[in-house]
Amino acid sequence: MSPFSPALQSWVPCSPDSDFPIQNLPFGICRRPGEDRAFAASIIGERVIDLAVLHEIGAFEGIPLPPSIFLHDQLNPFIALGKTIGRTVRERLAEILREGTSHEGIKGAATRWLIPVREVQHLLPVQIGDYTDFYSSLDHATNVGKMFRDPENALLPNWKHLPVGYHGRASSIQVSGHAFHRPKGQIKPEEGPPVFGPTRLLDFELEMAFVTGKETAPGDCIPTAQAEDAIFGLALFNDWSARDIQKWEYVPLGPFLAKNFASTLSPWLVTLEALEPFRVSGPEQDPPVLPYLRQEGAHHFDIHLEVAIQPQGGEPYTVCHSNLRHMYWSMSQQLAHHTINGCNIRVGDLYASGTISGPDTGSFGSMLELSWKGTREVPLGEGQTRRFVQDGDTVILRGYGTRDGVRIGFGECVATVLPAREDACG
Ligand code: CA
Repeated sequence: MSPFSPALQSWVPCSPDSDFPIQNLPFGICRRPGEDRAFAASIIGERVIDLAVLHEIGAFEGIPLPPSIFLHDQLNPFIALGKTIGRTVRERLAEILREGTSHEGIKGAATRWLIPVREVQHLLPVQIGDYTDFYSSLDHATNVGKMFRDPENALLPNWKHLPVGYHGRASSIQVSGHAFHRPKGQIKPEEGPPVFGPTRLLDFELEMAFVTGKETAPGDCIPTAQAEDAIFGLALFNDWSARDIQKWEYVPLGPFLAKNFASTLSPWLVTLEALEPFRVSGPEQDPPVLPYLRQEGAHHFDIHLEVAIQPQGGEPYTVCHSNLRHMYWSMSQQLAHHTINGCNIRVGDLYASGTISGPDTGSFGSMLELSWKGTREVPLGEGQTRRFVQDGDTVILRGYGTRDGVRIGFGECVATVLPAREDACG
């Protein structure tokens, strides 16, 4: 039996609709409330796995791991050990967690290393050095082009020749479960000079992010065929945007303050190995891409994505169903393009997909598109509607794939919008 066959069952309870069966085993960083000690973790069903305690009691015997490798507040040192180590640790975890495990002693100590997920606090899984945001969904780029430029000629001339991207801000990326204040900034009314105030057009962006697990030297490049070796794992990403600030500031250098006030990352890095069953071919790329961007095989992933808005005191209402397979450019192509000029990468760097929209109205990955620039109301149920995100709203991203009865998911990527700060400058 493969270490992660669909038939594999665990002695740890896990409901069929959990994102975290024994076949997933993603990596994250957790802390017990009131304790300083952060630890590297995995998750199965509703229970977090303390890898530091497992290591201490000898569960990883035979795997060359430094003694305190799981006692950092970031996964970077573990990821830097390389993919083979990461894969071996996941396989050992599966051996320990499977029904009929031969690791009886480790299983017997389960109360020490299995913790109900509600009892832990999540930290960012990695220390993010650099953050890059792409713009790789054809439907999203087409929608934005139709709204703001030419409905007949929506895509800019470069779009199908290279994965468009920009360098974002790493410091304001926070782990799921946070809240932030509505940002303020310069807004230009239709008539007259710009004014200063809270954004009126706060938006989410449904994205998937990947984290690199390798370091390259300045001058090196990564070919598409080897790009996946440099990708450690994926997480959901909400790249919050202030559309009115964006509209005024973005010329000519692109997004700045409209994008750097907050972004939300889901807590678990799901490995490419766990996503193997969901591989699919990407769209035909026409016109043909330059040789350094060409790739053979299936490098896209069939992962259902959705966004729900939960008004303060209300129930969550799903406003968007999309799919990671809607990407035009694959992660491999993004990374190959990113490094083709000799730009070096580091362990823990984050790369987001850009908003992932599908072809149908219900699959648009931002309020900008769902409300078509604020021209139509998006129903939330219970008589509520939205054009953009309001104060008190919680936005919840989810993502999962299902094959052979096994669901591999990402957990939730959640953040709540608070009113603009009264005491802020200006
Ligand atoms: Ca974005």
